[in-house]
Amino acid sequence: MFSKILIANRGEIALRVLRACRELGIKTVAVHSTADEDAMHVRLADEAVCIGPPAARDSYLNVAAILSAATITGAEAIHPGYGFLSENADFAETVEAHGLTFIGPTAEHIRMMGDKITAKTTMEALGVPLVPGSDGELKSLEEARTVAEQVGYPVLIKATAGGGGRGMKVAHNASEIEEAWSVARTEARTAFGNDAVYLEKYLDKPRHIELQILGDNYGNVVHFGERDCSLQRRHQKLLEEAGSPAITAEQRDTIGKTVTEALSRMGYRNAGTLEFLYQDGQFCFIEMNTRLQVEHPVTEMVCDVDLVREQIRLAAGEKLGYTQSDVTFSGHAIECRINAEDPDTFAPCPGTVAVYHAPGGLGVRIDSALYTGYKVPPYYDSMIAKVIVHAPTRAEAIARMYRALDEFVVEGIKTVIPLHRRILADPEFQRGDYTIHWLEQFTARPH
Ligand code: ADP
Repeated sequence: MFSKILIANRGEIALRVLRACRELGIKTVAVHSTADEDAMHVRLADEAVCIGPPAARDSYLNVAAILSAATITGAEAIHPGYGFLSENADFAETVEAHGLTFIGPTAEHIRMMGDKITAKTTMEALGVPLVPGSDGELKSLEEARTVAEQVGYPVLIKATAGGGGRGMKVAHNASEIEEAWSVARTEARTAFGNDAVYLEKYLDKPRHIELQILGDNYGNVVHFGERDCSLQRRHQKLLEEAGSPAITAEQRDTIGKTVTEALSRMGYRNAGTLEFLYQDGQFCFIEMNTRLQVEHPVTEMVCDVDLVREQIRLAAGEKLGYTQSDVTFSGHAIECRINAEDPDTFAPCPGTVAVYHAPGGLGVRIDSALYTGYKVPPYYDSMIAKVIVHAPTRAEAIARMYRALDEFVVEGIKTVIPLHRRILADPEFQRGDYTIHWLEQFTARPH
């Protein structure tokens, strides 16, 4: 086992990793920008190293500074968290080239899944179902037209290097295809420096359902069931639950078996998530995330597993030590992402937290790096806390979340807590009756 780990991240996820290290008896090294000198992850770590100025590209994305910090502190492994360098294959490769362990999959697998076309063709060859669409990259507008006629409108043109919902355009009919083709390519070129695009049938009422997996270095892979992340605004998830109100235990077993067999054949190691669109009883793979996800706690609650601890153990070369039948599912969990944003306009709202009081009680978990007097810096993601609840049934989990949000005091900055309270009180949400479009329609309603 490692004796010291460097955490290449900030905020709640840096604390999440730090907590797992502490419980494993591993020393921690925090890295931080000059804007984060007072951050909780810096205060709680055994050692802290400043790696640059506020802008992420000069600090949390600064590979040379992070590697120097690891070297001078004698860290043996690096946990990248999510975001920043977590899905950067070159970073993973550089870390390993320096004789350190990257806590995650191989650089080769990160690279494969980072290119969405390669990800799709790989998964298809391994028997995972896809959204119908083009066979790889579209070579021309003519090919886009032909494939669109074959799969039927509406269709979506997507950037192969895409992320965060950018480089994606819908064409509802043949007259819109030319514009979708050129807009998607221009966006992709600007955002990712790569204008390769592909085409998928546009599903009109899907749910976003994803499967959590873990693999060891010896070909053993298990899944921890699904998370329903359909509540999104501009492709950003806001509330997630495990399990999905839309699928049965048999459906979970079936897709779980397909996925674990595929990843075992691939030799995938460490944590990963396969994202699917689910509609009319069909799962269609859209992409794989080769890292820990923001919403991993809902899985931890229903499966009683510490996914970060598992990541560290597996990266150290330990075996999984359990099989699929040892993974059990109990009760229901919900996570609300608390963003420092205006709950109506979604304008970011950084500033000083005048008063902070976290909820507590049975079945309530808060993952946050906030404290009274903390100044939320304007340079990074606006998510400042995650409230996670666990209860025997979905209805009880909803009641518990409502109660927890009632107790939550964050003064001095605006947060999306009022929006979460409205969602939880909505009859459609309570029935589990929603698709990926529901939240945008909901936020547009007068209230
Ligand atoms: P990104 O990497 O940019 O997040 P994804 O491929 O994961 O891109 O898609 C992001 C979101 O876009 C999905 O969660 C879903 O809401 C929507 N989406 C993607 N593909 C389709 C599709 N074929 N039909 C309908 N919606 C889609």
